[in-house]
Order: sequence, then C-alpha cells, then structure tokens
Amino acid sequence: MKKFLDEDFLLKTDTAKQLYHEYAAPMPIIDYHNHLPPVQIANDIKFDNITQVWLYGDHYKWRAMRTNGIAERYCTGDASDFEKFEQWAATVPYTLRNPLYHWTHLELQRYFGVNELLDSSSARAIYDHCNDLLQKPEYSVRGLLGKMNVKVLCTTDDPIDNLAFHQQIAGDGFGTKVFPAFRPDKAMAIDDVVSFNAYLGKLEALANTSISDFNDYLMALKSRHEFFASMGCSVSDHGLEEIYAEDYTAQEIRNIFGKARNGGELTNTEVLKFKSAMLVVFAEWDHEKGWVQQYHLGALRNNNERMLRQLGADTGWDSIGDFSQAKALSRFLSRLDNDDKLAKTILYNLNPADNELMATMIGNFNDGSSEGKVQWGSGWWFLDQKDGMTKQINALSNMGLLSRFVGMLTDSRSFLSFPRHEYFRRILCDLFGSEIESGELPNDIAWTGKIVQDICYNNAHKYFGWNK
Ligand SMILES: [Zn+2]
Repeated sequence: MKKFLDEDFLLKTDTAKQLYHEYAAPMPIIDYHNHLPPVQIANDIKFDNITQVWLYGDHYKWRAMRTNGIAERYCTGDASDFEKFEQWAATVPYTLRNPLYHWTHLELQRYFGVNELLDSSSARAIYDHCNDLLQKPEYSVRGLLGKMNVKVLCTTDDPIDNLAFHQQIAGDGFGTKVFPAFRPDKAMAIDDVVSFNAYLGKLEALANTSISDFNDYLMALKSRHEFFASMGCSVSDHGLEEIYAEDYTAQEIRNIFGKARNGGELTNTEVLKFKSAMLVVFAEWDHEKGWVQQYHLGALRNNNERMLRQLGADTGWDSIGDFSQAKALSRFLSRLDNDDKLAKTILYNLNPADNELMATMIGNFNDGSSEGKVQWGSGWWFLDQKDGMTKQINALSNMGLLSRFVGMLTDSRSFLSFPRHEYFRRILCDLFGSEIESGELPNDIAWTGKIVQDICYNNAHKYFGWNK
C-alpha cells in the first residue's frame, strides 16, 4: 500500500514521477487570477494564528463544517480562533474524498512541515506548532509567496480602487510581481439603480469629474482603465452568470443610462441591452491595450436569502447555475472578432455540463494570430478538484490543444492555497505518464517534459506578455 501524501502523491507510474519531479516541480508559479488582499501584501503582514490565514473568509471550509453539523458561531461567529480551528479539525476526518481533505494536508505539509493527519486529537499540537512558525519573519505573507516560488500574481480590483497598495508593493522591490486586474462588474450592474448611482458618485470623486451622461461615464471609466494600465495591469476579469449579447443602438444606451442616472427603474430588456453594450466597451478597451480578458461564467449566487441577510455575499451560499451559455458567447465573441477587436480571452465555466461547449467554443476564434489566443480556463471553484481538473484537461486535449494551455491559477483568497498549482501539476504529469507507459503516447520524455513545463509556466509567461 502506498503511503498517504508522500512525494509521489497522485503519480501512479515511474514516467509520471519523472515528469513531475524533473520537469514540473522546479517551475515557478504564475497565478494570473486570485483574490488576495493587496493591503496584506503591501504591509507584509504576519498572522497571529493559523485560523486567521486558513479559516477567516474560507467559505469552502465553512460549507463543509455546516454540512458536518457545526454551528455558525464556529464558522463566521464569535467563537475564539482556537475553538474555530478545533471545530474545523473535528470536521476534517469527515471530508474524506472531498478536495478539502487533500488541500488541508497538502497545505499543512508544504508550509508547516506537518505530516500528521488533522483531527480532534491532533488539533491542539498542530495549532500551536503552526502558530509558532507564523511568528517567524519568513512566514509573513511575502515569505509565504516566496516559499511557493510565485513569480507573478494578479489580484482582482474594482475600477474605483485607487491601487495605493499596488503602488506601495511596486515601489519596494518585492521579488514577486503583484499586478492589479480590472474587474468592472459593478460598473455594469445597472439593474440596481440605487447602488449603481452610488457607485457613480464614488467614480466621480475618484476621477475628479462629474458624470451626467453616458459619454461622461465612459470617459471617467476609461481614465480608470488607463490608470490600471499605468500600474502594470494587463488583465481584466468579469464574474457573470452569462454573457450578454443583445442588439442595441448607441442612442438606446444613452437613453437607458440617462433614465438610470435620474433614478428611473429600468425594464429587463433595458438592463440586458446596457450590459451587452458595456461588455463590448470593456472588451474593445482590452483589445486596444493588448490585455487578456477573462470571463467567469455560470455561478448562481446568494441562494439562501436568510443567510445572505445575516452574513452578506461570498459566505458559502453559491452553487452551479444552469444558464445557457453557447449562443450569447458565440455572438459576443463574433461581434468583436468581426471588428478585429477580439483581445486574448480566457473563458471559465462553472457548470461542468458546459465543458465540451467551452472546449469547442474557443476553437471558433483561434485564428492563427497567436498561440492559444482564446483559452478555456482551468477547473474553477466547484470544479477545482482532481475530477474537475482531469475532465477539463481531457476535454481540452480531445477538442483543442492541451499543449498551448496557460494552465492553473488559484482564484483564491488565501495565502496558503498555492499548493493547488502542485496538485494540478501532479494530475497533469500522471495523465501524460500513464499514456506514455501504456504506449498511447511515444516515450519521448524530453518533448513531453517540455510540454509539461509550457503548461505549468512558459505558456502563461508568454501569453500575458510577462516575458518582455
Ligand atoms: Zn475569481
């Protein structure tokens, strides 16, 4: 029997082991989409204890704890940090076969050298051990990123963020490049007219301008897009249920904006037209600047009204939606392509039923102008696990070119989640290794190793323009 989580974890063949240890493992990490708080990197904070870095804000763990019958006060409530850790530790043995079981032990091993299993009986000793280490200078957030060999990371930022923390990070010689990413979800959320106007008020203050018509709005937003570019940003991101690709005229959009600016309620059609227009505006700016645009599609958020009232958004009440993606996505991308304004694009689906749809959609717009111009992103959120990653890799292999894939990203809020890159790399090497050993692929380790290194690092490095 193999040992749990040893150095050959997930690597079933000798060829897989060779590919992973010799080719994949040494490659640095590019984490081109995550939700790390720039303020914590700027101030290079240290955490008082492992609960703060591991359980605060981690709705994956909260969902598992709630499912395991743990009361809310131990997830998001007023229990002490140790009590919260203790309840998580008690839950871990019940997460067998959930990816949390692997993430948890991989993170304990990689960051803290803990090889024991976490459960109720080991909780106190592991808590104290990790907390001691977290006081050391090398366990500051920059130390943690350095430990994982992270070369570049992109956070996720609203256009009205002043990027002061990014400025601070860029100015003080930190070895990991930390870039902002432009995420204008609120700038197109006209369905809630009150919040939209409040947002515009903040934008007016920041851009030092007044916004009375749609043209003013575009000018103010564009100045933010340009400011982001001046701060090294070359990536945008959108979190949407689905792509909007309605027909509209410029006059219609001006009227819809005017109506909302005066506090008028919009019809559903008006909302959809406005969102469709804004997606095109942002995409054209991204193309103009040579940015990469990303679309995260398909989450059905805030399903539990009672818990939304109690805890707010992003606290673990979201799931996979069944939005119809293909037609609007095709229309949207074709509209841009027609005008020669299609930027490099990465599409992410949350519904696994859309896997083959995405794998084939990207091929419609890969026109030979660059390698893998339109990408299908790695398994995300509920699909960010062994089965989900394997299915994404297999569908992409079958219907596209796996060799041109820009690979893994954490999409995480936690500084401890970078072993997910390792997890992905092991799965990738295992797939290649077993097919070499079964004779389905040639026994060319040097070439396969090169492809592995491309997917782990080189493709992203080139794709995002960070090789310049
Ligand atoms: Zn994200």
